[in-house]
Amino acid sequence: MSNFEKIQSKDKQYVANTYGRFPVAIEKGKGATCYDFDGKKYIDFSSGIGVNSLGFCDEGWIDAVTKQLTTLQHISNLYYTSPCGEVAEILCERTGMKKVFFSNSGAESNEGAIKCARKYSFSKYGEGRSKILTLNNSFHGRTVTTLAATGQDVFHNFFFPFTEGFEFTPANDIDALKKALEDSSVCALMMELIQGEGGVMPLDKEFVFEAVKLCREKDILIIIDEVQTGVGRTGKLFAFQKYGIEPDIVTTAKGIGGGLPLGCVMFSEKTENVLVAGDHATTFGGNPVATAGAKYILEKMNDSFLEDVERKGEYIRQRLSKMPCVVGCDGMGMMIGVRLEEGVKAADIVKKGIENGVLALTAKVKLRLLPSLTISYEEIDEGLSALEKTLSEI
Ligand SMILES: *Cc1c(COP(=O)(O)O)cnc(C)c1O
Repeated sequence: MSNFEKIQSKDKQYVANTYGRFPVAIEKGKGATCYDFDGKKYIDFSSGIGVNSLGFCDEGWIDAVTKQLTTLQHISNLYYTSPCGEVAEILCERTGMKKVFFSNSGAESNEGAIKCARKYSFSKYGEGRSKILTLNNSFHGRTVTTLAATGQDVFHNFFFPFTEGFEFTPANDIDALKKALEDSSVCALMMELIQGEGGVMPLDKEFVFEAVKLCREKDILIIIDEVQTGVGRTGKLFAFQKYGIEPDIVTTAKGIGGGLPLGCVMFSEKTENVLVAGDHATTFGGNPVATAGAKYILEKMNDSFLEDVERKGEYIRQRLSKMPCVVGCDGMGMMIGVRLEEGVKAADIVKKGIENGVLALTAKVKLRLLPSLTISYEEIDEGLSALEKTLSEI
């Protein structure tokens, strides 16, 4: 048996069958380059689905994490620890938000946001004003409640009964939103500014502006799900800063941990004191090791770092647009959705790309690229060449 076959057979026998994996086992990586257990090299345009913001095994991040790991790994939220307060300070200073709750994943962050929105409304208006609007084609997570919040029918199966109180409205349709907001039981509107899993679909600025305005008039909270768009991905620290809006609640996860499980919910002045002791908690939240890494990541993401994300994203788009089978690119910064000619299947490109030494993602019918934000131009060129070869072979 090859190294891969040994790993695969154990996984197939003992790990729950919830993932459709590609026939590759990755052993190690550095920067945006990784190797499988049989020594084959890959350029990674997936960053572990937007997680490895600084690539594989960034030395500064390893130092920060290791230093904390050999000092104190965990003690629980019954006590004060550092560095979670420092991370919260950086997030607040750089976003205008006022307080941060730390979680461990995107779905868990969104659960916190939903609880906050419902309690805000309950405390102020009493029972019954608990409905949360989300957009068609959205994705908000895999728990029973965040599945209910997800605006795609394929996710609403098997696990009945789902959490009540979610309704969907089409993206970029302000008249439909107006209509949905006539319902006096609505307490919040939750949306991704660029729908990630839904196909890298950025919302129109006018729609977002108008939606915020309409919600403000009725004291309906704006929740922005930045689990995928957050932490530098779009060329700003958060995508809402690109849109120039002031949300009431912002959630993030994926890239903030740089590979360790970490998420957060950020609260504005309006919502910062809604959840109090006893309302919400999580055992691992604000874990010292994960937040030590996050502090390093956020400090690294200064203005010139973020401008670089924008520049590299632009470079990748330009090169992609000249490739066979490519119609155009959507997204912002280094969140890139590639529109392909009819009949060309993104899943086939990803599969064949692996053979050619490049790891990419799909999002609905598009090819999706979420490279680590520190990827070098050499790695970009190498990965794009492998992708070009793949596209010309399809
Ligand atoms: C990935 C994702 C989630 C879920 O995050 P998990 O960490 O897998 O729970 C939620 N919302 C958006 C927009 C995502 O991209």
